[in-house]
Amino acid sequence: ELTYFNGEFVEPGAKCVSLDDRGYCFGDGVYEVTRVFNGRCFAFSYHQDRLYRSMRFMDIPVKMPPEDLQELHEIMIEQSGITDGYIYLQITRGVEPRHHAYDRAKLEPTMYMYIRPIKEDLSKLGDGVKAISLPDERWHHVDIKTLNLIPNILAQTKAEKKFAYSAVLFRDGICTEGATSNVFAVKDGILYTHPADELILKGITRQLVVTRVAPTAGVSLIEKEFDREFVDNADELFFTDTIGGIIPIIKLDRQPVGNGNVGPVTMKLRDGYEKLLAEGLA
Ligand code: PMP
Repeated sequence: ELTYFNGEFVEPGAKCVSLDDRGYCFGDGVYEVTRVFNGRCFAFSYHQDRLYRSMRFMDIPVKMPPEDLQELHEIMIEQSGITDGYIYLQITRGVEPRHHAYDRAKLEPTMYMYIRPIKEDLSKLGDGVKAISLPDERWHHVDIKTLNLIPNILAQTKAEKKFAYSAVLFRDGICTEGATSNVFAVKDGILYTHPADELILKGITRQLVVTRVAPTAGVSLIEKEFDREFVDNADELFFTDTIGGIIPIIKLDRQPVGNGNVGPVTMKLRDGYEKLLAEGLA
């Protein structure tokens, strides 16, 4: 484990954040989580693009150019010696006495990063997980990866209290995504997922399934809204996220998904995704 704060490496958990940091008071900031595999960042350019997009939307100035950000990620991998793990990066708007409106010119963003190893056996997720469904109670711009995750936190906690891996969220009857992941459904061999609009986070794993893994596996894909009834009649369901990759859902609200086993399309896509991860991607 290695921790970085505003230009230097510090002890993990070091007390260096100002009480007036807007990240602390308002959750006024953005973040990214990038997978480290075989000693390299996986799909770094995708995460970097999403981070800068989040910052543009939030009106947080970019102080670190892309080359330096990439170099910092590489240095953290090298110095920590971690080959299989993830890097968390958080940028908040900066420090000033608490007041809702911000003055961009006066603020210096705060940057916090760490690299940690993945200790759990992720391959177990391939056996499939249980999920519960919950209403999607978030705001209308969840395409921005902000630190404000209250509805996600509450949903994930409800799910874990019921011994589920996570929650599948529904907004006005439409399946949007998971509490910490995107959601795909398979029906009659065709893959479905919610369009990448402002009602879901455009997950990098989702994007790689759509643009690379599904086409390579010869699986047709439709990005369109689907409702609860469609989910209940789906042959297969899965979550996608950076850490777990493609995670089959075999039970939703105690009902088996399809025949209750990990389906063939999900398995094929999992194989394809693992291959891509092993090959690496800039
Ligand atoms: N949706 C939400 C709400 C998330 O928090 C995440 C990330 N954990 C994802 C989707 C998946 O995004 P990614 O594939 O980039 O990890």
